[in-house]
Amino acid sequence: MLFFTYDIGLTTQARFYNVVFCTILSSLIDIDHFIAARSFKLKDITNLKQRGIFHCTTFWLILTLLLLVYTHITKRLNIYTLAYMILIAYSSHHIRDANRRGLWLYPFGHTSPLNKYFYIFLISVLPKLFAYLYVYFKPSYKNIVINYDSII
Ligand SMILES: [Zn+2]
Repeated sequence: MLFFTYDIGLTTQARFYNVVFCTILSSLIDIDHFIAARSFKLKDITNLKQRGIFHCTTFWLILTLLLLVYTHITKRLNIYTLAYMILIAYSSHHIRDANRRGLWLYPFGHTSPLNKYFYIFLISVLPKLFAYLYVYFKPSYKNIVINYDSII
């Protein structure tokens, strides 16, 4: 929600759908607990020794970077927005989880758990920073003016 308090040029409807998408994606990240445990039992899930792939920050960073590179090549605004929605969804989830277990930056391992105040600082500041970066690096489109007089 903080991301959309910054004017990034989306309609109210687009903002609503993007918020819903971020919420769902951020929640779905925890599905990998079931995948890693290969079980739906709470006991198995809470006794996991390793984390699932969706909790690997490197995985999402690579995915986001690939989408942003693709966007800069194709100039597709919807993919650009999707990349930022993914970035917001996983960064907020991972930072919240990092308060307890640290960030998983494969192949470098885990960071130490984030300090509670640093976690709150990141959760408060990153969406605004991402909104600023979204506007600053937004791909520009070539304006093609069609001269209808020459067609007829
Ligand atoms: Zn999680």
